[in-house]
Amino acid sequence: MDNMEKSYSRREFIRTAGAAGAGSLFTAAVANAGTWSASAQGGSSYPRVRTRVFGNTGVKVSMLGLGGYFDTAMNISLIEQAAKLGINFWETTNKFGGKGYGLYFKKHPGSREKVFLLSKTKSKDPATMVRDLDKTLENIGTSYIDLFVIHAVDRIESLDDRIRKVAERLKGEGKIRYFGFTTHSNMEQCLAGAAKLGWIDGIVTTYNYRLMHRKEMQQAVKSCAKAGIGLVAIKSQAAMAHPTATIGVETETSLAFAHRFMAKGFTLHQAKLKAIWENPLISSTFSMMPNTTILMANAAAAMDRAALTSRDMELLKNYANETLSCYCAGCARICESVAPNQIPIAKVMRCLMYYHAYNDHEKARSCYHRLPMAIRQEIATADYSIAERRCPNRLAIGELLRRASRELA
Ligand code: SF4
Repeated sequence: MDNMEKSYSRREFIRTAGAAGAGSLFTAAVANAGTWSASAQGGSSYPRVRTRVFGNTGVKVSMLGLGGYFDTAMNISLIEQAAKLGINFWETTNKFGGKGYGLYFKKHPGSREKVFLLSKTKSKDPATMVRDLDKTLENIGTSYIDLFVIHAVDRIESLDDRIRKVAERLKGEGKIRYFGFTTHSNMEQCLAGAAKLGWIDGIVTTYNYRLMHRKEMQQAVKSCAKAGIGLVAIKSQAAMAHPTATIGVETETSLAFAHRFMAKGFTLHQAKLKAIWENPLISSTFSMMPNTTILMANAAAAMDRAALTSRDMELLKNYANETLSCYCAGCARICESVAPNQIPIAKVMRCLMYYHAYNDHEKARSCYHRLPMAIRQEIATADYSIAERRCPNRLAIGELLRRASRELA
């Protein structure tokens, strides 16, 4: 990467950022001299995404991580672009293979050691975990993964001693350096529980401008930091499960901050990322960056040192409150403990989010169809009145789940 850094000039960055439509925040970043290293100002280098230390590992990871798996050779140029921008924290999974990363490492000898690579398994069965890891290593053509995580943990009790032992064995064999999990349900409880375990190195968690104000979340993040656990935020845009997500929910506040951020040269998307980085205890944020436009816009936000003001943060918080009933906060233990026939309400909400907010109908349907048929048959007719009364965000659970059964069947 170092050689490529030198050949990637400031002018080239400006040209690419402008072409990608990331120009205004980029201009703000340039105006902020702190964003540029001395050599960059002299034109011999280019700006790089800032780094933060990842928990007790001591590794400096880029504040912006490369999400999206990159499974084909077609991704190579985007990966190269990300590497040039200093994005050194990359995500992959055995399902998608990360073959694009493998091709990148082959094309750029010596680059593997400069990347902090995360891979996932969905399994908590030790033999399957090892199989998934081996498959990823083979796909990428690397001998180790930096951070190996179990995906979608929703109860810390599910991380039992068998898992601790396999994690320790894999570390001993040099196949992984660190171990952890991802969570998008009951995040606060999972984080707080992990802080007490003593063998979790890193956690990838749903965390955004809506959740960061919750007392339980603030305490859980602090506990992890105290325990030396590195934290990565996902679902940074806090996308809504509600059908209005497609068009956005316009409120007085949203109009106010749209004007405000535009005047400062941010997009709302960039402002939401910057809100996460306001918390120094969050080391990085994984963002799906399927094209140069999004990559450059996110990178510009991660380079810019201008902090959001307290008024900016207040507006985001107000907007979160005004649109509370459109957002599922993943507190599954609250609604699912009273859900008829153990219907996984939060999971169905996530499918709806993929459908309405991401506009990814295929992903939404495949997420929904992974639910057992017996459960799917219950979804449209079940009575959710108790769950609705308990939902802290006052979601119209019944209406939304009936909608899911129509749209995603
Ligand atoms: S539906 Fe409500 S209670 Fe259930 S996870 Fe979502 S926000 Fe929490």
